[in-house]
Amino acid sequence: MNDVNDATVSGWKPDSWQRKTAAQQPHYPDADALAAALGQLRTLPPLVTSWEVNNLKAQIARAQAGETFVLQGGDCAESFADCRSDVIANRLKVLLQMSLVLVHGLRQRVVRIGRFAGQYAKPRSADLETRHGTTLPSYRGDLVNGPDFTAAARIPDPQRLLEGHMRSAMTINFVRGLIDGGFADLHHPEYWDLSWVRHSPLAVEYQRMVDMLGDSVRFMETLAGGSISDFSRVDFYTSHEALLLWSEQAQTRQVPRSDGWYNLSTHFPWIGMRTAELDGAHVEYCRGIRNPMGVKVSPSMTTEWVLALCRVLNPENEPGRLTLIHRMGADKIGDHLPALIEAVRAAGHRVLWMCDPMHGNTITAPNGLKTRPFERVASEVEQAFAIHKACGSRLGGVHLELTGEDVTECTGGARNLSHEDLERAYKSQVDPRLNYEQALELAIRIARVAG
Ligand code: PEP
Ligand code: MN
Repeated sequence: MNDVNDATVSGWKPDSWQRKTAAQQPHYPDADALAAALGQLRTLPPLVTSWEVNNLKAQIARAQAGETFVLQGGDCAESFADCRSDVIANRLKVLLQMSLVLVHGLRQRVVRIGRFAGQYAKPRSADLETRHGTTLPSYRGDLVNGPDFTAAARIPDPQRLLEGHMRSAMTINFVRGLIDGGFADLHHPEYWDLSWVRHSPLAVEYQRMVDMLGDSVRFMETLAGGSISDFSRVDFYTSHEALLLWSEQAQTRQVPRSDGWYNLSTHFPWIGMRTAELDGAHVEYCRGIRNPMGVKVSPSMTTEWVLALCRVLNPENEPGRLTLIHRMGADKIGDHLPALIEAVRAAGHRVLWMCDPMHGNTITAPNGLKTRPFERVASEVEQAFAIHKACGSRLGGVHLELTGEDVTECTGGARNLSHEDLERAYKSQVDPRLNYEQALELAIRIARVAG
């Protein structure tokens, strides 16, 4: 491999993370099998291109400048079993519909980033899990091991790295095909209907927005004397947590006509709360890639820590490079966010501020299931908009866990799902997601406060 550009980020190489402590990595029992799988992964075609990655960085720079808004959403953890056309199409639909609501409410372009086509690895609070006296390695996402509570399923299997790459490729291929084929076309709002939303009290409000947008498109086309191609095409980008560093490294490439290294497994990787140590392997890996990227910011992180992350991850203060995704919880955001906004501004760091209202609002229901009350999720986003505004800053995006399926994982919302309802259709292996109606309801709430 050509080493000419190695010097672009000082002391960094795609494998320099290996000299640091890497939290949340699986222990592969067979080193040769891991090396063989990584060898194959390195030679397979990438999932995205550096042009797309650069385009997204430019879009995020525009969001930082207040010109666009970013909607990022998808499963907590994708599963191999859910790499199915209906699941992928429904998730794309709900994200497109939410973005339509946001375009309407915010009167701005919306940049769409899916948490998909590679969101297959998960951090866990414990390495081991004990059930009925048996202790096994924790499930770490389909990219690593299987969710069944058996010794065989829980052994980390490097073949899963290749399986994950294939399923990510199939997912992104289908998404691109749907979008290129006009799935997002505002002339055809009928494609955008999922039958059961009609039962929602918000269906009328949503339908009115779709009709108004359709009318506006036709009106502008009448003025322009022809079709305005922008309305039938949307850009869609992918993202995942850059967690499993062996596979991230294997997909880190140099490309002709571009300086530096790109992670070409996704447009927008992010560092999760559990792997954001300043001196850790994840920060080391991410500081050297050219992609736009995010870092989750939890209430347990000090201001100094966040400022140091900004310096290390974006030393040139490049527009579009860094997004801070705060995930505080509805009861903590008011205490933590204002000082953070002030400190980042005082230090002169250019960042996009995004709110993840999911991860600080997780509770355990009496039946033991993890859930999130819709009102707390909505409250955190609404507070985030108000706090940024009061501080003279701007919330430029939201980061959500959602699905296009009719699941019952979060309580509340227009149908007021209760703890008892959770057992009816709880499918997530990891965190609870907003279902289709709740996701759309949240988009309408956001459009109301941010518009
Ligand atoms: C996640 O986004 O699924 C996640 C684990 O988030 P966090 O790192 O913020 O806890
Ligand atoms: Mn999650």
